[in-house]
Amino acid sequence: MDTKISIMEENQIDYEAVKEAAKVIKDGGLVAFPTETVYGLGANALDANAVKKIFEAKGRPQDNPLIIHVSSKDIKELVKDVPEVAESIMERFWPGPLTLIFEKSDIVPERTSAGLKTVGIRMPSNPIARELIKTSKVPIAAPSANISGRPSPTEVSRCIEDLNGKIEYILGGECSEVGVESTIVDCTVDPPCILRPGAITLEMLKAIDERIYIDPAVMEKPKKGLKPKAPGMKYRHYAPKAPLKIIDGDIKKTIAKINEMVQNYIDGGKKVGIIATDETFEFYPQGEIISLGSRNNLEDVAKNLFEVLRIFDDKAVDIILSESFEEKGIGIAIMNRLKKSAGFDIIKV
Ligand code: AMP
Ligand code: MG
Repeated sequence: MDTKISIMEENQIDYEAVKEAAKVIKDGGLVAFPTETVYGLGANALDANAVKKIFEAKGRPQDNPLIIHVSSKDIKELVKDVPEVAESIMERFWPGPLTLIFEKSDIVPERTSAGLKTVGIRMPSNPIARELIKTSKVPIAAPSANISGRPSPTEVSRCIEDLNGKIEYILGGECSEVGVESTIVDCTVDPPCILRPGAITLEMLKAIDERIYIDPAVMEKPKKGLKPKAPGMKYRHYAPKAPLKIIDGDIKKTIAKINEMVQNYIDGGKKVGIIATDETFEFYPQGEIISLGSRNNLEDVAKNLFEVLRIFDDKAVDIILSESFEEKGIGIAIMNRLKKSAGFDIIKV
């Protein structure tokens, strides 16, 4: 298939391109588009055949439901009920990097919700995303625009890498400013429960309802009896091609351990990548070193994380060693993605 690609400078909307892409959505095709979290791969959420194509293009497991993207807070057609606490959360955080789970209405096909009676809905803040949804006049189901299992794309070049030739249209804008996928909050339970951490943090949500908590299965290695409630969180995810190991503990000990491991790998003829930070970068004498940004700006670290994993793919390293981050604020989302990327291979120091 020929994929049409339109790239817009700094999210300056090219209305003609958006109109063409919206027509693709209306006609049952697939469009990759920028959002503030990561790039999305969209189809008409109410058209089961169109949604099926998303699963095929990504190689996504059939039991992993899609998030529906909307351009207004009026979601009553898509859901059975909007609990009061969800109203308050939407009022405060929409548009933005936050998905809410509701009981779904009958117009949402089971293909979209992967057989569940519930549905995840989000109103993105990215202007191109919103214009696309508005112009298509349908809600857009959109998972991240990557081949399943790979790190989510935060730059249009990565969507092109994964999806060129497989979908009808790729709309490009600037890099995703958040860089990790939306926070997911299940509003079908009381108190609401965070199923996936993101840029809207536990602390921010507690300001709305202090009883909100994180699903305990989210940060742990999947094990029997403790199953994440978001079906997608059980898969190996966000994974670079090379194995990734997290070194976790006091930062001085972390640097020493990483340097010791790097030496061993180099002695064994291996090419090693190091995920460092601005504060630690200079303490690694060898290896392919990339900084995620400053430890004093974890928003930046989140924004750079997936792209750095993909750069290590380009560099064809044999192994990647990463520093870890404090599990507080957006650090919870960073560590959630890093641990999944590493398949929970964590070395304590
Ligand atoms: P992605 O769009 O690729 O970021 O993946 C969507 C994530 O949302 C996956 O982890 C899904 O399991 C989760 N999700 C979507 N819909 C629901 C739902 N109805 N209930 C629980 N989790 C959901
Ligand atoms: Mg994804």
